[in-house]
Amino acid sequence: MKLDVTLALRNPGVEYPFEGAQAIAPQSIFGETVTFDDARVCGTYLALDNGSIKVKGELNTNARGRCANCLRPAEAPISAGYDELFLLNGNPEDDEVFTYTSSQVDLERLVTTFALLEMPMRLICGKNCPGRPEGYAADDVPLRPSAQDSSTRRPFAALQQLLDSASEKEDGSASLE
Ligand SMILES: [Zn+2]
Repeated sequence: MKLDVTLALRNPGVEYPFEGAQAIAPQSIFGETVTFDDARVCGTYLALDNGSIKVKGELNTNARGRCANCLRPAEAPISAGYDELFLLNGNPEDDEVFTYTSSQVDLERLVTTFALLEMPMRLICGKNCPGRPEGYAADDVPLRPSAQDSSTRRPFAALQQLLDSASEKEDGSASLE
């Protein structure tokens, strides 16, 4: 999807809305091919006095691939926000900046970059995944990496231990009075 920023360049500082669809090319992630629905994008853009274009908005899409446990088809919804500058006639080979030429801001690289940043480490087909490892709690949120599950579970266990020992101390002091 390309934004024609001719008007914005004539009126620096004035915000213009945009809305549309942006295709995202299939990506190879840890050796697995992941495809994406066309992203729905919307937001605003404005020109700065130096000719840079500031693009701010959000994207929504679905990533589709294979379940990391059972290899059945799996998908994950992806939402991301962005607020980025596009430099006029910048170096298109430079990965650190977004660039544009000739009043046309192409959103493909921006949308692809921000969609990939929000990709879960592993796709999981769902709660009824037949390949789910033993000990995987039934209320685990699907589509999240297992590393994240364990890191969120452990703090609660530690917190419970703290609460248990705290209530024991209270009981002890109460019986002394
Ligand atoms: Zn599965």
